[in-house]
Amino acid sequence: MVCKIFFAAVSVGLGVPQSARAQRNPDLRAATRYRDQSSGKRHCSTCVNFLPGGPNPGLGRCKVIERDDEIDPNGVCGLWSDT
Ligand code: SF4
Repeated sequence: MVCKIFFAAVSVGLGVPQSARAQRNPDLRAATRYRDQSSGKRHCSTCVNFLPGGPNPGLGRCKVIERDDEIDPNGVCGLWSDT
């Protein structure tokens, strides 16, 4: 009985650390030319579309790149827009 409960919990993700459930959206990353590092003044943390927070400390999300919670505040894409 205990084994059945354990495997049921693992199968729905209860045994998986929060960071392991983080996801990326490679299609939208490629379409927007997203990269994790910016060399200029433009970066995600200064973009109107950036949403800080999420399952990974230090990372965030983006209003444009949906279903992706590993957006780096130091990253940038071709759709950067001033706040
Ligand atoms: S639109 Fe681009 S620059 Fe702005 S937060 Fe999203 S990924 Fe970063």
